[in-house]
Amino acid sequence: MKLKIQKKMGTARKNGYWDVRVSHKESKGKKSPSYTFKCGCCSKKVEIYYDEEDLEINGVIGSIENWRELLLPLLRVKNTKRIEK
Ligand SMILES: [Zn+2]
Repeated sequence: MKLKIQKKMGTARKNGYWDVRVSHKESKGKKSPSYTFKCGCCSKKVEIYYDEEDLEINGVIGSIENWRELLLPLLRVKNTKRIEK
């Protein structure tokens, strides 16, 4: 899974929102790899550790399937059949 890295603060989008900042950490020992999403205007952040079967989002562990049920509707994703494993 590769997301675009974006570390610059205060990058405005055309829609008026700041670009969410994105950084990545490789796995370390038993720790899974992770992405950190930070607000474009301040130090608020969401940390997501990921592996094949689950995601840990800000310390909350759930299966991939569980997170899909919760997050896809919020992201306005309707057709989930094409999502790859
Ligand atoms: Zn902010």
